[in-house]
Amino acid sequence: MSEMQKGNLSIDSENILPIIKKWLYSDSDIFLRELVSNACDAITKLKKLVSMGEATVAEDTKYKISVVLDKENSTIKIIDNGIGMTADEIKEYITQIAFSGANDFISKYEEKAEGGNDIIGHFGLGFYSAFMVSDKVRIDSLSYKEGAEPACWICDGGIEYEMGEGDINERGTIITLYVNEESKDFLNAYKLREVLTKYCYFMPIEIYFEDLEEIKRKEEEAKKKAEEKKAEEANGGEIADDSEEEKEPEEKPINKTDPLWLKQPKDCTDEEYKEFYHQVFTDFNEPLFWIHLNMDYPFRLKGILYFPKLKHELESIEGQVKLYNNQVFIADNIKEVIPEFLLLLKGTIDCPDLPLNVSRSFLQNDGYVTKMSSYITKKVADKLNSLFKKDREGYEKFWDDISQFIKYGCLREKDFYDKVKDSLLFKNTDGKFVTLQEYLDTNKYKHENKVFYVTNEQQQAQYIKMFKDNGMQAVILDTKLDAPYISTLEMYNSGVSFARIDADISDSLKSGEEADKETSESLEKLFKDKLHNEKLKVRVESLKTDSVSAVMQLSEQSRRMQEMSQIYGMNFGMSMPAEETLVLNSNNNVVKLLLSIKDDEEKSTETELICKQIYDLAVMSNQPLSMDGMTAFIERSNKILEMVANK
Ligand code: ADP
Repeated sequence: MSEMQKGNLSIDSENILPIIKKWLYSDSDIFLRELVSNACDAITKLKKLVSMGEATVAEDTKYKISVVLDKENSTIKIIDNGIGMTADEIKEYITQIAFSGANDFISKYEEKAEGGNDIIGHFGLGFYSAFMVSDKVRIDSLSYKEGAEPACWICDGGIEYEMGEGDINERGTIITLYVNEESKDFLNAYKLREVLTKYCYFMPIEIYFEDLEEIKRKEEEAKKKAEEKKAEEANGGEIADDSEEEKEPEEKPINKTDPLWLKQPKDCTDEEYKEFYHQVFTDFNEPLFWIHLNMDYPFRLKGILYFPKLKHELESIEGQVKLYNNQVFIADNIKEVIPEFLLLLKGTIDCPDLPLNVSRSFLQNDGYVTKMSSYITKKVADKLNSLFKKDREGYEKFWDDISQFIKYGCLREKDFYDKVKDSLLFKNTDGKFVTLQEYLDTNKYKHENKVFYVTNEQQQAQYIKMFKDNGMQAVILDTKLDAPYISTLEMYNSGVSFARIDADISDSLKSGEEADKETSESLEKLFKDKLHNEKLKVRVESLKTDSVSAVMQLSEQSRRMQEMSQIYGMNFGMSMPAEETLVLNSNNNVVKLLLSIKDDEEKSTETELICKQIYDLAVMSNQPLSMDGMTAFIERSNKILEMVANK
């Protein structure tokens, strides 16, 4: 290289590079994204010029980017055959750190450390991310312009740089990073390839990864082989024509330049969608269905969202929505762009109009982003509604898999709820799927505007049986999400209330006859006495089913309060038991018998046994007995058996 010229980076601040370095330390792998996307841009620009007839390239030009790892010399090179830069352009684009105000940057930096990844592209500092991992960076470039001279620029991360004539003889740019001690990790071929794949997998220009160590090893192997062959020939061995087998397998780019989301939805097959899903998310289950987003106006947004098959409840749902900017990966799960509840899905979204480096605070206040987010919500809702309308049977099959996601969406976004509210399903105790309206219509003559639900089919089997015996259904809402979901549904459907199946004795379970006041009062007194519990609430109803002696009724409101306090660990001053009422069935023979013997002194022990047993049975059909309760119950049951046997 001929004589080097010295210069200063033109920035107002003392020295911006240490700041960038320090700031971005945690996210240093983005240097590769920045440099490779610069290389992509350089090639895209050249292609454009060629297509406009403003530049000429050799006919057989193959545009490509190479990332070359030289572990021995601790360097990484990013090579492109794009537009290139003249010395003047390097000065202009690189050294005059092209962002409107360095002061802006510095003051922002001083205000709050917000995460450098957000800032760096915002200020057009992409190239400088190279210094996060390098002691020294060298640019060699040859512009496409006719008669251009090769240029070279070297900077060690201080404010001084050197410039001179370079020796590059092919059009394009070589960025050489002299990797620093702390960033040695990137000299590991496996690691470097991983980072490259993460950010550049869908970039539009072919990218090749070359590990010089590996290449050297292969060359030596080939040389050895050739020598062996020579020796064999010299020994009079046959000369085999193996030119075929000696051909190196053609090198493959690490990326796919034409991601499926860029194709028109009508041109994509189900197979392609599935393959894309398997490939991108390394999930070998089949996705349930997908939505291809394809919008050009008023903003550009393309992508594919998949509904994955879920096996567990919400906690374990882990979606992954990858955000891209013109095929350059930005980050996973950016909730400012993608509505939070959609992050449970898997997908890719490409928004060319977003800045490459998304600053979250910037996004939050951006009307454009809000519009984008509501467009995505709408698309998802449309898809669900159309599945519901066009293929209810298929939709029902999906329901168990998608219901958690949809419920969560309804909780998080009123907008989403409004759009899908008529496509929400409930599984009922007959195993059928119904909408809220269908449920209300079917049961309207039994209980108006009330939805009975079951939270535990096994535990509430007794109530379910009573319901079924009377031709009634309840819906099953047995996941963690259901409590808030129920409140949300009540909030949005005024007049409709939800009651757990043990919360209320529906009129249609009653025979219609009313127990007289005297009977009620004396039964209440009897149970209070025998159970030694003055506070016990007792009610007498004449139920249609005569086989049940009593059921426990739990006030919906107080039970919900109790559950809430458990979930949130709140303490309302005391531990509040849910309000319980023992509902005695005056239509049941044992209860009837109790009435007739209650004053019989001789049978006082038996009466107590019966009362306690009835009470326990009612509790048991509602929830498990306590440990002491269970011991007493078994003891008492044995006593009763003994009495029966002795009779
Ligand atoms: P940004 O890419 O955000 O403009 P950078 O700091 O990454 O900011 O790059 C500054 C400028 O340097 C680019 O806009 C481009 O003009 C030029 N440049 C960077 N890398 C290359 C390259 N590989 N080939 C040609 N020009 C480049």
